[in-house]
Amino acid sequence: MSVETIFSKIIRHEIAADILYQDKLVTAFRDISPCAPTHVLIVPNVLIPTLNDISSRHESILGHMILIAAKIAKDEGVSADGYRLVINCNKNAGQEIYHLHVHLLGGLLLRPI
Ligand code: AMP
Repeated sequence: MSVETIFSKIIRHEIAADILYQDKLVTAFRDISPCAPTHVLIVPNVLIPTLNDISSRHESILGHMILIAAKIAKDEGVSADGYRLVINCNKNAGQEIYHLHVHLLGGLLLRPI
């Protein structure tokens, strides 16, 4: 069974967050502990704990998350210089919140990976 996280409460506006974008599929808000000048989380409104839990029925949500990440990068003025999208999956990647999310990191020169 999937266990709700703080992200579900943010999506429902039950706790405060700096929400930049929301539609019927996704919510995007600033990371509370930013690792870059622009650090935004793009989150599906439905609870999907990790990348291991996706299936073909999530295809449109996952595509939409990337589209919205690119839109926010443009809105935040980081698209020309560049940015990185990251999805952490489980403990070896350091996932802390078990509600799938894309990190958008921009505004600084990141170490190549
Ligand atoms: P991850 O390690 O990929 O699970 O990333 C979780 C991210 O959520 C971290 O970068 C946290 O700083 C961020 N975070 C945790 N709680 C909040 C919150 N209430 N509002 C915004 N970001 C949060």
